[in-house]
Amino acid sequence: MDFKHCIYKNPNEPIGSRVKDLLSRMTLQEKLGQMTQIERVVVTPTALKHHGIGSILSAGGSGPFEKALSSDWADMVDGFQKHALESRLGIPMLYGIDAVHGNNSVFGATIFPHNVGLGATRDADLARRIGIATALEVRASGIHYTFAPCVAVCRDPRWGRCYESYSEDPDVVRKMTSIVTGLQGQVPQGYPKGYPYVAGRNNVVACAKHFVGDGGTDKGINEGNAIISYDELERIHMAPYLDCISQGVSTIMASYSHWNGSQLHADKFLLTEVLKDKLGFKGFIISDWEGIDRLTEPMGSNYRYCISASINAGVDMIMVPHKYEKFLEDLISLVETGEIPMARIDDAVERILRVKFAAGLFEYPFSDRSLLDTVGCKQHRELAQDAVRKSLVLLKNGKTPKKPFLPLDRNAKRILVAGSHADDLGFQCGGWTADWHGRSGRITIGTTVLDAIKEAVGDKTEVIYEQYPSAETLACHDYSYAIVVVGEVPYAEWSGDNKDLVIPLNGADVISSVSDKVPTLAILISGRPQVLEPWLLEKIDAFIAAWLPGSEGRGITDVVFGDYEFSGKLPVTWFKRVEQLPLNVGNDPYDPLFPFGFGLTTTNELLK
Ligand code: BGC
Repeated sequence: MDFKHCIYKNPNEPIGSRVKDLLSRMTLQEKLGQMTQIERVVVTPTALKHHGIGSILSAGGSGPFEKALSSDWADMVDGFQKHALESRLGIPMLYGIDAVHGNNSVFGATIFPHNVGLGATRDADLARRIGIATALEVRASGIHYTFAPCVAVCRDPRWGRCYESYSEDPDVVRKMTSIVTGLQGQVPQGYPKGYPYVAGRNNVVACAKHFVGDGGTDKGINEGNAIISYDELERIHMAPYLDCISQGVSTIMASYSHWNGSQLHADKFLLTEVLKDKLGFKGFIISDWEGIDRLTEPMGSNYRYCISASINAGVDMIMVPHKYEKFLEDLISLVETGEIPMARIDDAVERILRVKFAAGLFEYPFSDRSLLDTVGCKQHRELAQDAVRKSLVLLKNGKTPKKPFLPLDRNAKRILVAGSHADDLGFQCGGWTADWHGRSGRITIGTTVLDAIKEAVGDKTEVIYEQYPSAETLACHDYSYAIVVVGEVPYAEWSGDNKDLVIPLNGADVISSVSDKVPTLAILISGRPQVLEPWLLEKIDAFIAAWLPGSEGRGITDVVFGDYEFSGKLPVTWFKRVEQLPLNVGNDPYDPLFPFGFGLTTTNELLK
């Protein structure tokens, strides 16, 4: 049958009518296919044409090949789309990726600061503009969907995903959810509340994650248990979702974590009664990667039971992601035996189709090559550079407040640059860049702090760089000052859980040995506060928290050399000792090294 003239194919029909029409034509198999998201590496033409798989993902950014460009990605995604459109009803597939700080899996894309740094800016409009730029760069790669923003409220920096959180403070996170409007476009006035909205082909489907309480787990353990009252869950962790929903966020990802022992992927109260019914969310809920497989006892032993528990709880699309044939076989039998009611399946598929229609996938399923010019373009890099400037938090400036050390003299005679992070673009970008866990080295196009220093200083200034300066290097030269850049080594998720928070790679020792001999500015590149011993802080002349700034190191030198003023404020509390954790603003007692919101100007005034 030719479906060309059906209601669902007609862009002039309202989305609701198109969804209804298409749903009425679908077989059970086709419906279940739409609920299934599989990983790129297992995609075959049969999966798309025969099983009618609804969505594909590149987890951790797995691409067609190492250092693939946007055009290579677009070729790959379009190739998959061609097969999806050959399915009986020609339903386009939705391609998802973790573009969590720019389109971070693509070589040459603009890499923005990670969320913790954006939280330091408190600048909602900046987040919105970053959303616009990210959407363009994602769409240029043929991809329609990003698993972002992470709106976790990180209450404990020991959590490996602290840097994916804008702040420990729900109000700051709420503010920064404006990135949703950037990614998806501005919801028009009068648009029905809770419905997914994607403005056009320069926008992407966004995903607020991970619902809910992921940042509130006991001891900051990834995928752990948030032992808190419903009131606290709602007030602190759920609050940002209200803002995302009012901006028409299309999808929400369930969290691996537990709330008082209840696993979110099977929590009908939170997913259906609260998120869908009470908050009125009309987009789809997606599971996390293998979210169903990771359900633990009492459900964990039986995959089939886990599927029904999760879908009956309200999960609409399942990130399977590999063994989809087994998943579909079990799912069909669960529907046939009535363990999952047909009405639940129809509701899930309706939500998924609603997003696909809203995103215009039926009208423009393929990539728009005219967007390729936006990838890593000058304008986006300038935006990222500006974000870096605004994200820097000045914690100390001068041995006494009356004698500020910064700004530095760009025409100084000789400068020493040192530290593990002075010339490492991968370290600067952190996790979720090029690779799931991130990597060291020239992983993409960008400017390291050292590159930026060399560019910024005067012609006559000599820059000496040694990662770990020897006694000789430290002794035999007369340096005007030193810039030491140290920090965390990239990580993602559980691999970042850390009880000690000690600056890796002997960071404190390098700062110490350099500052023994030379007046020193220390810059910390990290996803969260690190232990700062009082004696160390005492020794150095200035200290900056630069978070995970991304590809544009120039943002740092712009401020350090005084072209721009510091404006960043701590998005999280800086603890004195890890034994104090969790330590959040509002706690009593509250005895931090630097309180939440702390940040200085170059003249040592406290930022308001
Ligand atoms: C993470 C999600 C991510 C997904 C897909 C999971 O391990 O928890 O945040 O979106 O993988 O890569």
